[in-house]
Amino acid sequence: MTTRYKGLIERYRDRLPVDSNTPVVSLCEGDTPLIQLVNLPATTGKSVEMYVKFDGMNPTGSFKDRGMTMAVSKAAEKGAKAIVCASTGNTSAAAAAYAARAGMTAFVLIPEGKIPMGKLAQAMAHGAVVLQIRGNFDDGMKLVKEVAGEAPVEIVNSVNPFRLQGQKTAAFEIVEALGKAPDYHCIPVGNAGNISGYWIGYSEACGHNTASCTLCNGDCPYLENKLTESRPVMVGYQAAGAAPFLRGEPVSEPETVATAIRIGNPQSWDLAKAAVSESKGWFDEISDEELLVTHGLLASREGVFCEPASAISVCGALRDIKSGKIPEGSVVTCTVTGHGLKDTDTAIAGADPVVTIDADLASVKSAILNHI
Ligand SMILES: *Cc1c(COP(=O)(O)O)cnc(C)c1O
Repeated sequence: MTTRYKGLIERYRDRLPVDSNTPVVSLCEGDTPLIQLVNLPATTGKSVEMYVKFDGMNPTGSFKDRGMTMAVSKAAEKGAKAIVCASTGNTSAAAAAYAARAGMTAFVLIPEGKIPMGKLAQAMAHGAVVLQIRGNFDDGMKLVKEVAGEAPVEIVNSVNPFRLQGQKTAAFEIVEALGKAPDYHCIPVGNAGNISGYWIGYSEACGHNTASCTLCNGDCPYLENKLTESRPVMVGYQAAGAAPFLRGEPVSEPETVATAIRIGNPQSWDLAKAAVSESKGWFDEISDEELLVTHGLLASREGVFCEPASAISVCGALRDIKSGKIPEGSVVTCTVTGHGLKDTDTAIAGADPVVTIDADLASVKSAILNHI
């Protein structure tokens, strides 16, 4: 028996809408580390168990791979030759990579000048047709939905339900790693697909057989096979300049340094609202200044290098633990959605400058002694 990990579709085949006719397009995504934080929780003065689900460790460096393996496999099953998405960067990187593997063409619409170079490099290297639009993500999303009705292309944004099916597997992995569901799950919210996917995953993991459940209407297919007894409280954090869930309506000119969540009109609005209200959770907003501090601390104090948008989950969790909103003794998981190498400009701008010295022993020695 081979033990080689073959990606999340093979791992969770019995819990995903695939069958023997589905050509699995995989880069061995999923199975990402759940890393316990050892230094930052103490800064709250409270005692909690805090973990990051480092989904930046997926093959293209973000959780989007979880959804993309499903979306592209199902597109291949239909015989699609091309896929299309709007993206703040990571969806385009994932779409480009999975399309390359499947022998399809990926068309990606990105906002002009607003995506970090790492992400653009990925889409270009994997051979996507990159269409830079003079508009933002929400403009791109609207266009993608329109063009899908007029050209033979499959949408692989999270409005494609197979995306959320793939993304729900992160919740399964967390439940398996902890041996139970966490008490709180904190997550960045942009287009709101991921929080919705996690809620589906946690709900299926506990065989959510409640009549009020909007997902199964009291008829959960996984009741016999439950992995855990409870679901976490879901907490969604948005950047203050792109926080439609806090405003109660779409935001027309979203702005934030966290480009991955620079989204004003989330497509999974209803699902995300339901996840938060059914779990008795909440949405909150975080300023760019605050999230950048946590972005730096995660790298410099925990060794976890993520992109700015990803740090918002940890930033919000620390704030809510400190205030007592998340009570002491809780087990808290935070999704860290994307890798820090995606956006090196922001990381370098926020870090201590490089020290330039002469190439001699005295200079090296005094530089070291200066820093001890
Ligand atoms: C896509 C993305 C998000 C936002 O996820 P949604 O499903 O759009 O809410 C957050 N962080 C990163 C790094 C992303 O790529």
